[in-house]
Amino acid sequence: MSQVPVIKLNNGVEIPQLGLGVFQVPNAETAQAVTTALEAGYRSIDTAKIYDNERGVGEAVRASGLAREELFLTTKLWNDEHGSDATLKALDDSLSRLGTDYVDLYLVHWPVPSQDRYVETWKAFEKIASDGRARAIGVSNFPQRHLQRLLDETGTVPAVNQVELHPDLAQSELRAFHAEHGIATEAWSPLAQGGLLAAESLVALGEKYGKTPAQIILRWHLQIGNIVIPKSVTPERIRGNIDVFDFELADDDLAVIGELDAGKRLGPDPETFGG
Ligand code: NDP
Repeated sequence: MSQVPVIKLNNGVEIPQLGLGVFQVPNAETAQAVTTALEAGYRSIDTAKIYDNERGVGEAVRASGLAREELFLTTKLWNDEHGSDATLKALDDSLSRLGTDYVDLYLVHWPVPSQDRYVETWKAFEKIASDGRARAIGVSNFPQRHLQRLLDETGTVPAVNQVELHPDLAQSELRAFHAEHGIATEAWSPLAQGGLLAAESLVALGEKYGKTPAQIILRWHLQIGNIVIPKSVTPERIRGNIDVFDFELADDDLAVIGELDAGKRLGPDPETFGG
């Protein structure tokens, strides 16, 4: 079984560097995907209130027989739940759907600048962390200027910023800012939703290393220090995506993948989304 390395977050909590994402997986199919992943050695699952499948995640976790402390569960606060009271209630509801009394990582899903409530929301996250209801707190889709505001106006540096990141959108400046401030970079759509898997250079690297283009991309993420949460509901792919710890890309091959960066976003612009 694959041994997934951990990344130590800025509060000392350790997160597996690779987990399963379950965006767009219907609740009824989620337990099966998570069960397959847990059997393959995954210990980290990334869900969100808006995915409407926290119950399916909880079901698979309970059925696995694994001790809660062996697992790393992430969920996220949705855009219509910003604000102090709404945030505290939203976490209660997520915990109840997941069937657990804490999450390992709770994220503000989007900054929603038009609402301008993420600082207040973040203060509620600080309370959640101090109450032990989330072992670590972080954000998602936060451009640098919004991270800077949290640093300036609150006492807690986010442990993680989960952002769209794949070879087509390498986010180099944001990653440098994260590194400077001790924020871990977590990549969503790490496989560019499957859209890059036929790229000539990735296919060639796959042949060179005897791996699939998906495994090459995941290995690139891991070697540049990203946390990754590839999504799949296909058992063979779920197993393949974690089978990336028995080879290493050479520096010049990392550079070849780095050259694919086209600054191309698949998802919405965080400055305007949700507003
Ligand atoms: P991914 O980049 O993980 O790609 C998922 C797609 O690629 C699916 O269609 C899947 O198909 C396919 N796929 C997976 N593995 C392989 C493989 N080995 N070979 C070929 N195809 C493959 O995209 P996501 O957008 O799902 O991102 C991953 C996770 O990131 C999400 O599930 C979610 O947890 C998180 N996320 C967070 C966001 C945020 O705002 N914070 C936004 C978007 C995602 P199939 O399932 O059919 O096998």
